[in-house]
Amino acid sequence: MLPNVRVAVLAGGLLLLGNTAAHEINPLHEKYTQNSNTPFGRAFDAVHEEITQLARACQLAHPGPVQAPLVCTDRNTRDQEARGNKYDSLVRGVWWNDDPNQLLFAVRQGKFWAWMRDARRIATTNHNWKGKPAAIDGTYYMAYRSHYGDLQFLHAMASRNGEPARDTQQSILLWAEFAYAVATGRVDLETKMDRVPPSDLQPYFRNQGGWTVNYLFAPRYRLKSASHIRSMAAGSLLHMVQDSYSAAHADRAFEASDRCPTGSVLEFHSYTHQRPDLHQAVDRRTAWQARTFTTAQDPVNVSATLLAYIAQRADWNVVRDYLQGTVFCIDEGAREAGPGGFVVATTGGRS
Ligand SMILES: [Zn+2]
Repeated sequence: MLPNVRVAVLAGGLLLLGNTAAHEINPLHEKYTQNSNTPFGRAFDAVHEEITQLARACQLAHPGPVQAPLVCTDRNTRDQEARGNKYDSLVRGVWWNDDPNQLLFAVRQGKFWAWMRDARRIATTNHNWKGKPAAIDGTYYMAYRSHYGDLQFLHAMASRNGEPARDTQQSILLWAEFAYAVATGRVDLETKMDRVPPSDLQPYFRNQGGWTVNYLFAPRYRLKSASHIRSMAAGSLLHMVQDSYSAAHADRAFEASDRCPTGSVLEFHSYTHQRPDLHQAVDRRTAWQARTFTTAQDPVNVSATLLAYIAQRADWNVVRDYLQGTVFCIDEGAREAGPGGFVVATTGGRS
């Protein structure tokens, strides 16, 4: 998830590159053309994009009734929007959780960087960039809330240390239910956020009750396709699920237990007191590929399975059972949230 903005000096000019981790997104990678092989495209990882494209290829190769989980062994075939990721609604949705204000694929990377520095300062010192006491609440920009505030469940993370795993799971399921309803066309896109299902999600948008679903997902930019926002919602669901398979987001066990036959989440982490560089290190493509998953617990297979449910407009109860019993299964021994091993050093930590 996290915004690690690097500075590169190119052609005598100063360019801020948004590089967002956990798993990483890279809105500059193949932004306009596939396989463009530009220095930008090679410089940063695009993990979410790759998992998503593999998952979509998997789902398209299995058009029949869903038999969860879809299992795909081909990790080379990629189904891509030939004009580039910027024209791919599903990928734009995958970007959204990290960049809900749509700053990264425009010329606003500097603003994103400034916001994230401010958000981190508030989260760790309770003071904003002006030095005034502050807390990230529901009035803040979505990007603040998604990374350091109450919307960290968009990355399958807890909003604070000490949050019970069951609460994080509940928030994740609320978002999943909403995103799934939008993706499957069961919510009118002009519905206001104080009316969307499920009703338990509405309090998170108490200060944005007048926003429409259309506005939430595309406050600045959108594609003309009628299905654009619905595909973005699907992408947002995939982002959350994919993040949960990063060790910086959740500690998992893949062994069977009575309640969780395909493994469980042992702890959801909170980003608030993690060190961004430590977090980012395990969100890289190499870390994802080095990790051993099972067929049931694998971010590509899980993403493909959810895309298949969406394509067939499966009943939400089926999808909820899958998310609750497999993807985000919690056993009795689940721990309260903490930063995991990704903690801020007592001295020398970044602020
Ligand atoms: Zn994320």
